[in-house]
Amino acid sequence: MQASFKTTCCYCGVGCGVVVQQDRQGRLQVSGDKDHPVNRGMLCSKGMNLHYTVMDTSDRLLYPEMRYNRQLPRQRVSWEQALERTAAVFRTIIAQHGPDAVAFYASGQCLTEEYYVINKLVKGFIGTNNIDTNSRLCMSSAVAAYKMALGEDSVPICYDDIEQADCIFVAGANPAWCHPILWRRVEAAKAANPDMKIIVSDPRSTQTCAIADIHLQLNPGTDIVLHHAIGCWLIGHGHTDHDFIQQHTEGFDAYRETVMQRSLAEAAAICGIPETAIRETAACIARANGFISMWTMGLNQSAVGVRKNLSLINLHLITGHIGKPGSGPFSLTGQPNAMGGREVGGLANLLPAHRVLNNPQHRAEVQAFWGGGAIAEKPGLTATDMFTALEDGRLKAIWIIGSNPLVSLPDVRRAEAALQKAKFVVVQEISNKPETLRYADVVLPAAAWAEKEGTMTNAERRISYLHQITTPPGQALPDAEIICRFAQKMGYHGFDYTSPAGIYEEHVRLTAGTRIDISGLDYETLRAKRSVQWPYAGTKAGNGTPRLFTDHRFYTPTEKAIIHSFEDGNSSAPVCPELPLILTTGRIRDQWHTMTKTGKVGKLKQHIAAAFLEIHPADAAERNIAQDDIVEVRNAQGTVRVKAQLSSRIKKGVVFLPMHWGKILHSDLNRANNLTHNRVDPVSGQPDLKFAAVQVQRY
Ligand code: SF4
Repeated sequence: MQASFKTTCCYCGVGCGVVVQQDRQGRLQVSGDKDHPVNRGMLCSKGMNLHYTVMDTSDRLLYPEMRYNRQLPRQRVSWEQALERTAAVFRTIIAQHGPDAVAFYASGQCLTEEYYVINKLVKGFIGTNNIDTNSRLCMSSAVAAYKMALGEDSVPICYDDIEQADCIFVAGANPAWCHPILWRRVEAAKAANPDMKIIVSDPRSTQTCAIADIHLQLNPGTDIVLHHAIGCWLIGHGHTDHDFIQQHTEGFDAYRETVMQRSLAEAAAICGIPETAIRETAACIARANGFISMWTMGLNQSAVGVRKNLSLINLHLITGHIGKPGSGPFSLTGQPNAMGGREVGGLANLLPAHRVLNNPQHRAEVQAFWGGGAIAEKPGLTATDMFTALEDGRLKAIWIIGSNPLVSLPDVRRAEAALQKAKFVVVQEISNKPETLRYADVVLPAAAWAEKEGTMTNAERRISYLHQITTPPGQALPDAEIICRFAQKMGYHGFDYTSPAGIYEEHVRLTAGTRIDISGLDYETLRAKRSVQWPYAGTKAGNGTPRLFTDHRFYTPTEKAIIHSFEDGNSSAPVCPELPLILTTGRIRDQWHTMTKTGKVGKLKQHIAAAFLEIHPADAAERNIAQDDIVEVRNAQGTVRVKAQLSSRIKKGVVFLPMHWGKILHSDLNRANNLTHNRVDPVSGQPDLKFAAVQVQRY
């Protein structure tokens, strides 16, 4: 072997450490980093096969391409030509229609430095807040709920709390498949402590349920009813932490009144689960010394996603299970760097270091620091709003970076029609596969994982450094460099960084004095320590802050956490006689998002090779559907046609489609988001991807 590098897996928010070995021929081999505190040498199937995604460059975009009108094919051009023309078009559109006529749609795959310069360019210099990312589809409900309950978007706990918990409640998630290495730690903790209680709420009996003591197979959309019912039992049986509530929270009286309105029997009937299961769940929480809740898309991707989050966080606040070892509400990040993106303000309503647009002082601080133009107060377009704005003509140009919205957005056929209306589309991408390329006027080839350096932050606030190990193929460039070159073409100053370290240095300075202060951090420290958890202020000792709120002083103005009260209803479009089944969508074990990377690794197709519809045998029998029959799933949004997979592991009345597949040979009938709809949570703007009314029939 010629060289060995320690870096971080680029798939999910678990953030596993990997060792990449490179031989004299440049071939790469990946293994788990035994010294990394997250994974201790373990990797899941996706992580173990990372090197194939880098070494197979057959699908890579190698050169900038451009076309002058939609009737012409794109031609290879130089970087100079591509960026010069893009800047000219952006300048013209901004001059004619204002800065809000352009938008940038980026990705939770972006490195923190990339997020930082995109955000600086858009908010600080172009003068619009139209920068959003696919994290809007992933974490925005959790972000909003943390802010509302705890005062800031701050995950209070860390992975080391897992081994110290004796009750873990997984709400609407399948971490055994979607956060595998994190779940290996839970499995090991349960094996070491058989008294640890694992509770899973999910309409499907997934691999996660294999070690569950209680599986609450609830009806989709009834999570708040369940969480309120647990709160009701805890209050009714005297298992709340009176002193904690009195000293460190606000809002308990209204909450008690709300949750006491519904009996457990009523709640059980709405959720479609036995009343005894709710009682047993609540009793497990009551007995626990350490209680962790974990959740991800099942709560977040909902028209009432913020309320679902808050209702679960409330269980921690009424029992005092926060800010102490083995306890806390733990939102599991989907994308590898969704948290890093939020640190630099990479959503349409944020500014760097968790500052917010509607705070004049925050805008003034950032504006003075960047030295650009005035930062607009009005939040920018969210991910789904961007496509609505393309549809109605408000938005003229969109720049899509490292994301595949024509697979991942809800009501995706409508999104595709909207993209066709754009006057100018830039796609900055590593792969020639995404559907967006069909509509691109300019294509900018980007460097992939291991071809660039930078940082990411995982689900437990752990910042890791990623090595550049190999050079990008063709003329592909790191995303940050592309953005900085464009900014300079636009005539903006402050983008002449000589390395990603310079961008990072600027980013950490902007965090000084904030709650996510990492002003003591630099690349040298990160390379030496491998990773640290924010906040990490002013010292090079230690590895940061594993646990927040240990003093029970929260980040609200009163330093008290807020227990929010609200009704328990769901606002998804309900089922009806014509559309009697509830469609829920999600991931499978060996694929990542829209498969631009995992889809090219043969080994990863061995587990599940094609899209399928999971349906309960009773629902199938009513429709004369047998195993492997082709079925058509339809509603007003669109149609999907895939093989049926009969399974009593899914609740009757519910069907499941994996979200990974897009168009295959110009057919979009595998694409789950043909069927999802455009409802979003009114606070977070996160789409309702887990609940769509559909009908299914044999094709
Ligand atoms: Fe990578 Fe996530 Fe698997 Fe870890 S669990 S190896 S971060 S995909």
